[in-house]
Amino acid sequence: MRDADFFRRWMAAAAAAVEREADRLTELDSPIGDADHGSNLLRGFTAVLAALEAEPVTAPGEVLQLAGRTLISTVGGASGPLYGTLLRRTGKALREAAEVSDKELGEALAAGVAAVAQLGGAAPGDKTMLDALVPGVAALATSYRAAAIAAENGALATVPMQARKGRASYLGERSIGHQDPGATSSALLLGALADVADPEGAR
Ligand code: ADP
Ligand code: MG
Repeated sequence: MRDADFFRRWMAAAAAAVEREADRLTELDSPIGDADHGSNLLRGFTAVLAALEAEPVTAPGEVLQLAGRTLISTVGGASGPLYGTLLRRTGKALREAAEVSDKELGEALAAGVAAVAQLGGAAPGDKTMLDALVPGVAALATSYRAAAIAAENGALATVPMQARKGRASYLGERSIGHQDPGATSSALLLGALADVADPEGAR
């Protein structure tokens, strides 16, 4: 079972991964965006860590809902509301439980990903974060590490895609040949989850 502390450690690991990869995320957002994805998420996850330190949340669902609200209020652009919705909706699905099973977390994340698809009107193949989140969350049925790998492969698979949603879609065919920054950060988020859930797992 996973308690609130596990979810705090997930958010801390996600913040550390975003900090480590912020420059790369911003570089990926340069040719097909406005070069702010790394700085957007760095600002957001720094605020998430501060909020989790300031507020005494004691349930897994509350941790994710606070993190989601914080991302919505601190990250501008498309990714703030989308990641905020992912975490809020996932947290809501976990309700008030003090501990949740891996199966419950997988189902909650699937609900969160569905909410992202609904909010952004995107589907896999549109060259967005969903290209990492959808295969990643599907692979949770196998293991946390399998989910992280599927998300990474999903992010790599965005390279030959033409963007149909978000800022990159304005470029039309010129969006082809570049990896989507949001799919890349989604792979970091699921990689952070695997790191805290299965620290012994092969990387
Ligand atoms: P902005 O595009 O507003 O500058 P960011 O640079 O922070 O925001 O995030 C860009 C990422 O957001 C894209 O790489 C893509 O993965 C994701 N994104 C944009 N629009 C959508 C959408 N409609 N649905 C899902 N993801 C989206
Ligand atoms: Mg951007």
